[in-house]
Amino acid sequence: MTVTRFAPSPTGFLHVGNLRTALFNYLIARKAGGQFILRLDDTDPERSTQEYADGIQQDLEWLGLTWDRMERQSERLERYNAAADELRAAGRFYECFETPVELDLKRKKQLNMGKPPVYDRAALALSEAEKDALRAERSGHWRFKLDQERIEWNDGILGDLSIDAASVSDPVLIRGDGQFLYTLASVCDDVDFGITHVVRGSDHVTNTATQIQIIEALGGTVPAFAHHSLLTGPQGEALSKRLGTLALRDLRAQGIEPMALLSLMARLGANEPVELRSSMDELIEGFDLSQFGSAPTKFDVADLGPMTAKAVAALPYEEMEQSLADLGVPAAIAPAFWEVARENVATRAGIADWWALCRDGAAPLIDAEDADFVATAKGLLPAQPWDGDSWKSWTAAVKEATGRKGRGLFMPLRKALTGMEHGPDMSKLMPLLQKHRL
Ligand code: GLU
Repeated sequence: MTVTRFAPSPTGFLHVGNLRTALFNYLIARKAGGQFILRLDDTDPERSTQEYADGIQQDLEWLGLTWDRMERQSERLERYNAAADELRAAGRFYECFETPVELDLKRKKQLNMGKPPVYDRAALALSEAEKDALRAERSGHWRFKLDQERIEWNDGILGDLSIDAASVSDPVLIRGDGQFLYTLASVCDDVDFGITHVVRGSDHVTNTATQIQIIEALGGTVPAFAHHSLLTGPQGEALSKRLGTLALRDLRAQGIEPMALLSLMARLGANEPVELRSSMDELIEGFDLSQFGSAPTKFDVADLGPMTAKAVAALPYEEMEQSLADLGVPAAIAPAFWEVARENVATRAGIADWWALCRDGAAPLIDAEDADFVATAKGLLPAQPWDGDSWKSWTAAVKEATGRKGRGLFMPLRKALTGMEHGPDMSKLMPLLQKHRL
């Protein structure tokens, strides 16, 4: 069975970059009829918070990305301890004592000599007596000893990849203070939960190389890996610093529709046009990882505006019935009101404005040069309630009386009744106006 996971750290709110990862893994699992796991990578007790853990779940729920199972790494520390023991016993784990300053110095020296800044494995040469002496001063951290050979895999997006393990530092899996780092925890979880496919950002490619060796050392099955390109801004500029301002909850607060966001993120960077989809099933059906390329993917938050307007316009009446009733739209006119409102709002929140206008009427907008014209028109306005012919008969009468036609006739009347220059077909809007303030 296909099993995927989305593994955010609850150290912040989800942003569009995270969403891409979540969505790909979700769609792969759903398309295969498999399982999608939400895993909270919360081994860092200082930075992980319950507020962020809750926030992540709320954001995924808002988007309809449901998970079949949730796991927290903070509850699996015993398992990671056991894995560490296993690696020690297999001779793949060694204790190191360099301080961050010492490591930094080593790196600088290597770079100065034109060498790659790879950890030199000096700790492997320490005698037991030397280690004891160092332990008395500070606690050691633990590194995984990579087999220095080429690590190869066929990446679901990047194709055949090969990384020379000798060019990578032995990864630290346990910090000096005993905290398990993401790499060991992630590997244990991927093995134990039977993860078959891992899609994540291309910033994880080197991690993947080392993780493959750790998985093998633990006797696990290596999942299929795929690394999607990172998002950039519309001009190709790095987005990493701005991602904080592209939090999913902020987009939600701005009224962005889930389907607009999902439709965009499920296609961006693929060889297919971005089109608004009407349901999650349609997104699942059309998803194909092999369509995605390695080039950085441009993301423009402005694209979400028009897509949201389209998504709102596409909402069926049945889905809106309750919210319209909650707004106070009488059931008798709700379907007709929805037909008019849906085409004229940028977000769902805009519907309330249209209802306020229909319910109370709008303050007329009358240009000085139209004052007499509007006064004449007011005298010809038929009594309410209005129907589908009211606009036609009123404008015909005003035309007759004033000789005005075209835009000069219609625009001042629209502005007088709605207070706006733009809006729905007036013959459809007029019957919905419960009052007017002309
Ligand atoms: N917590 C990791 C991250 O957010 C997970 C990476 C992975 O998918 O393994 O970067």
